[in-house]
Amino acid sequence: MKYYVLTLFPEMIEQGLGTSILGRAQAQGKISLKTVNIRDFSENKHGHVDDYPYGGGAGMVMQPGPVYRACEAVEAEIGRRARVLYMTPQGRVFNQKMAEELAKENELIFLCGHYEGIDERVLEQKVTDCVSVGDYVLTGGELPAMVMIDCISRLVPGVLNNDHSAEVESFYDNLLEYPQYTRPEEFMGMRVPDVLLSGHHANIERWRREQSIQRTFTRRPDLLPAARLSLQEQKYLASLKEKAQPENTLEEEGGHSARTSQEGVPHSPSALS
Ligand code: SAM
Repeated sequence: MKYYVLTLFPEMIEQGLGTSILGRAQAQGKISLKTVNIRDFSENKHGHVDDYPYGGGAGMVMQPGPVYRACEAVEAEIGRRARVLYMTPQGRVFNQKMAEELAKENELIFLCGHYEGIDERVLEQKVTDCVSVGDYVLTGGELPAMVMIDCISRLVPGVLNNDHSAEVESFYDNLLEYPQYTRPEEFMGMRVPDVLLSGHHANIERWRREQSIQRTFTRRPDLLPAARLSLQEQKYLASLKEKAQPENTLEEEGGHSARTSQEGVPHSPSALS
């Protein structure tokens, strides 16, 4: 996977993505990252790339010319038109499914705005996808681009030590991941669930699926309609819903919330067995 990032602040991207797993992935050639400074494509003798908005209003707008030329330079290097992702709070909200789709591309071009954004005309010419990282406004597109590159790279073969791990993480299959434990076996009087120490792989697998379903039910029930559950798992989910019913009634009456009552039961034996 080759990433190209068009930005006014290349050092932000390089520093942000140059360490840890992504730094190693670059060193090993699993992914490559090239930043392109939009300012280098200014034709203004002072290197200006922004100007006042027509019609008035606060702030500055990035001019179309430098962005257009920067994009053309990258496309010429790639040798064909690649997807150009404009980071904008007005775009489709990024999620794991989108990351999976984008991970299939060979090259991706990220366009980072700053100030009040970018002149609409160059966006119309060059952008294939408008993508947001959430319903809030940041100062620039650099952090969103980094978030997306980090997430997509985890899906590129060889970037994670264990290819399997991306397949059991939260959002894979529309379920949140089960709770994780490591040494020591006991911490502040709390023991690691016995099943994880049992060495019984089928039981561990079943327990983890059950925990995933339970977590998703309590924390992100909106994901569940798209989760792929076996018949047995569907029954388990139905039993969770049933158990939550009286709690919801209590909540309405000022009692404990369903969330509190559903969580914190990692030691219970598997109900799927
Ligand atoms: N005036 C713009 C608007 O209301 O849509 C917001 C401009 S914002 C201050 C500057 C730049 O930050 C945007 O051009 C975009 O690249 C980036 N940005 C801000 N929030 C973002 C978000 N939630 N997702 C993706 N990019 C964002």
